Amino acid sequence: MNTLNNSDIDRYIAGFPRETQILLEKIRTSIRAAAPNAEEVMSYGIPTFQLHGNLVHFAGYRQHIGFYPAPSGIAAFKKELSVYKGAKGSVQFSLEKPLPLALISRIVKFRVKENIEKFNAKNTKICPQGHQYVKSSDCPVCPVCEKNRKPTEGFMVDLSAPARRALENKGWLTLKKVAAHSESELLALHGFGPAALPVLRKALKKAGLKFKK
Ligand SMILES: [Zn+2]
Repeated sequence: MNTLNNSDIDRYIAGFPRETQILLEKIRTSIRAAAPNAEEVMSYGIPTFQLHGNLVHFAGYRQHIGFYPAPSGIAAFKKELSVYKGAKGSVQFSLEKPLPLALISRIVKFRVKENIEKFNAKNTKICPQGHQYVKSSDCPVCPVCEKNRKPTEGFMVDLSAPARRALENKGWLTLKKVAAHSESELLALHGFGPAALPVLRKALKKAGLKFKK
């Protein structure tokens, strides 16, 4: 998400001569277009785009614009970048020449792909059934299993997914089993909220059952 409050970067750019400002805005716009989901922040004192970590930085100087797409971004475009001055993780674009915006855009897209792949690799989980899925939260629920899971009794259909999961995790899949427990026991289950109680109460009543006291 592009943050609307980019006043720090605006202020940074405003500190340069007009000609440099134009180039800085150009590179910023190109990066933004190539990485629409990245966040714009100031990091290391220079404008930075982040998406699952740092994506690229750029900076203004007296003679050039600095672009920092990480060593991997430089290495992947070594040939195209060979005409520019640079180092392991940086490249310099002269103020005298037009910025290679198409190339910058390709490098940013490469970095987006790289960061997303790294993030996915780190957060890929395999459920007991062998399904692979990506989730960064600590409450992992396999989306494939979730989808395949069919409510076993009518009353399950009316429950929210987390409440249903809570019962399924316990193996309380029938009204008889639910009735063997008290309301407070159910409320203590992870994912089981108070909204699920009236649904179960109604279903139990229909079946001539009641919660345990
Ligand atoms: Zn699964």
